Formats: sequence, C-alpha cells, structure tokens
Amino acid sequence: MHLIETHAHLDNPKFRDDLSAVVQRAHDAGVTRIISIGTGIESSRRVLALAERFSSVFAAIGIHPTEIDEEKENFISELRKLAQNPKIVAIGEIGIDYFHPPKEKMSQEEIDVWKKDQAIAFQQQLDLALELGLNVIVHQRDVVGSTAAWEKVLQILKPYTGKLRAVFHCFGGTPAQAAEVIALGHLISFTGIVTFKNAPIVRETAMVVPSNAYMVETDCPYLAPDPHRGERAEPWHTRLVAAKIAEVRGLRLEEVAEATTKTAERFFKFPSQR
Ligand SMILES: [Zn+2]
Repeated sequence: MHLIETHAHLDNPKFRDDLSAVVQRAHDAGVTRIISIGTGIESSRRVLALAERFSSVFAAIGIHPTEIDEEKENFISELRKLAQNPKIVAIGEIGIDYFHPPKEKMSQEEIDVWKKDQAIAFQQQLDLALELGLNVIVHQRDVVGSTAAWEKVLQILKPYTGKLRAVFHCFGGTPAQAAEVIALGHLISFTGIVTFKNAPIVRETAMVVPSNAYMVETDCPYLAPDPHRGERAEPWHTRLVAAKIAEVRGLRLEEVAEATTKTAERFFKFPSQR
C-alpha cells in the first residue's frame, strides 16, 4: 500500500530535531511520498533542501497569502529560479486568507490594500504556475459566517479553468462547494479534521466526493487527527486520515490509498510507483 502525504510543513521548527525519524515513521506506515509545502521564499528554499536530502520528499514552493507582506521584493523571479529544481511538483501554498489579519485594528483603507495585495500575489503565482506547467495548492480561509475569500478564490481562478488545476487543501466545505470546484477540474484534499467530532460537514463531503477528485494530507505539524489531537501532527497520520475516509465511504483503507495515490500522481505529475 502506498499513500502520498500531499501537504506537510517539514521545514517547521517542530521537526528540526527528529526529521529522519519522522520520515522513517511515515514510510513504516505506508506513506511513501511526502510533499513539503513552502510558505515564503525562505521556507521554499528550506523545503527544497529537504527534498534534496530525502528521496521520498518532494516540494511545492510559493508565498502563503498571510506572508505576502514579508515578501514585497520581486518574489516571482525568485520562485521562478527555485522552480528549476526537478523535485518541485507544484506551486503552493497560495490563495486568499481573510481570517488572519496582519494586525488587530485596521482602517478600511488598510483592509482594502491587504485584500488587494493577496489577490495580486495569488494571480501572479497562478501565472507562474501556468508558465511552468505546474498545478497549484490553494489555501483559502474565511472568517466564520462569510464566504468572501471562497468567492474571491473562485473569481481569480476562473480564467485559468482548463489551463491548470488547483487542489483546495484542508477542505472544510460542503458537498455542494466541493462539487462546484470539481466541476471546474479542480480537486479537494482532507486533513485530520475529517476525524474531529465537531466536523460532520467535512465527513459528509468525504463520503460523497467522487473517488478521483480528492487527496489526503495532514498539514502537519498542525491538525493532528484523533486520537492524537493536540499533539504534533506527522506525515504518518495521513494513514489515519485515509482510514477515516475509508470508514465513512464503506471501503477498505487500501482502496482509499489506491484511489488517492493515483489522483495525486496525476495531479503532481509523478511517475507511478507501482
Ligand atoms: Zn499548509
């Protein structure tokens, strides 16, 4: 059985002391490939170094929407240079985040600039992905009760329909929202949230999403699945995410592994491992 952990933050300081053991534990659990995700230029450099160090680790590079402020200088040409590395499998994570404002009290003008900067950076990185022939990993987060970021992401993505594909990572939406992005050729992926008691909607989505339209991930070190909730999440937890999805879909773990691995191999343009 092979699982692909499609979203890990292996450059996080929480993995500094025991990363070899973390990668080994993933292997032992059947998680044979790990995609480590960049969130800024420095982070993208770090995940690339990790991809060079471990044969099973691959990299996505990009500027996270909450990091745009730090990266004013010419980040596209930096990303373009880094993207020459053959272990890069996607641009990401990129997108729109209205949940984490850079500071507490912002004037309307500051809010407008903040949102506009995110939109511009997202679009520039979509153009770069198109130029490089890569797909993208999308981060989208709204404040509770709003769908403004969701709508903005869809609006910005629209002209790219049929030209590149996005995965809506850490998907927290309804079955209808999943269907909306899948109809445009995109994918969704599930984290440990699918195991949380208070996430019935995510489980419902995991139950009905077409078998070729979703992938599995952890977003580690965040979002450890039950029964490890609150601990440091690790790539091997991808197996627990897949097991929960198998349970809600009435399948065996191996069937979910096979389907999600095939989907990920196609999305990230991996050669098949079998
Ligand atoms: Zn992430």
